[in-house]
Amino acid sequence: MRDFYVFLGPPGAGKGTQAKIVAARMGIPQISSGDIFRENLTNQTEMGILANKYIKVGELVPDDITISMVRGRISKADCARGAILDGFPRTPAQAEAFDGILKENGCRINKVPFIKVPENVLIERLSGRLTCRAEGHVFHKVNNPPREAGICDYDGSALYQREDDKPETVARRIRVYEQQTRPLIEYYMERGLLVEIDGDRSIDLVSAELTKILLDDEGNDV
Ligand code: ADP
Ligand code: ADP
Repeated sequence: MRDFYVFLGPPGAGKGTQAKIVAARMGIPQISSGDIFRENLTNQTEMGILANKYIKVGELVPDDITISMVRGRISKADCARGAILDGFPRTPAQAEAFDGILKENGCRINKVPFIKVPENVLIERLSGRLTCRAEGHVFHKVNNPPREAGICDYDGSALYQREDDKPETVARRIRVYEQQTRPLIEYYMERGLLVEIDGDRSIDLVSAELTKILLDDEGNDV
C-alpha cells in the first residue's frame, strides 16, 4: 500500500516549507501543484500559460486541469513509495477525484496535517516570501533569510517575489481559501485523517512535530 500525505492550510501557513523538509526526511517526493504550474509557466507550456491567467489574480485553476495534472504526476515512478502533496487538493471536487485516483491505484491517504496559522501572520509571511526560480525553495526576508541576499541557499538560483504575493492578490487568495478550501477540513475530519498542527511556531518546531507524527506512524525511528 502506497501512503500519501496531504498538507492542508491557508496560503502562507508553511505547507511548502514543511513538505520539503519532511519529504526529504522520509525519502519520498514532495508534490506542490503551485510549483508544477509555475514550472510550466517558465517553460511556456500551454497548461502553464492557461493556469497563470488564474494564478496571477489569486483565483484557483479549474479543477479539470488541476486534477489531470496531479493524476499524471503521481503516476510517475518516484511516487512508488507515496508522496507528500502540498497545495492539492484545494476544493471538495479535487478531494473526491483524488480519492478515486488513489483507489484505482491501490493507494490511500494516510494523514492530513492541517497547519493552522492566524490571518495576520499569513499576511506578514506572504508579503516577505522570496521564492527561488529553479525549484521553488522558499525563504522569508526577515524570518528565514537566505545566506546571501537574492540567492537560493540550495541551488544558487535567483530569488524573486511572486506576483501573487503582492498585497491585493494575497487578500484575494485568503478569501478564496476560506470559500473553496476550508470545507476540506471537515471532509478529512469526517474520514478520521485530519491532524491539527499549530503552525505559528518556528520552522524547526513545526517540522519536528510533523516528522514525529508522520514517521511514528510508519513505525520508523524519528
Ligand atoms: P505555503 O506553502 O503554505 O504557502 P510557505 O512554506 O511558502 O507557505 O511559507 C510562506 C512564507 O513563510 C515563506 O516566506 C516562509 O519562509 C515563511 N515561513 C514558513 N514557515 C514559517 C514559520 N514556521 N515561521 C516563520 N516563517 C515561516
Ligand atoms: P500558496 O501555498 O502560497 O497558496 P501555491 O504555490 O500553492 O501558493 O499556489 C499558487 C496558485 O496556484 C494558487 O493561488 C492557485 O491559483 C494555483 N493552484 C495551486 N494549486 C492549486 C489547486 N490544487 N487547485 C487550483 N489552483 C491551484
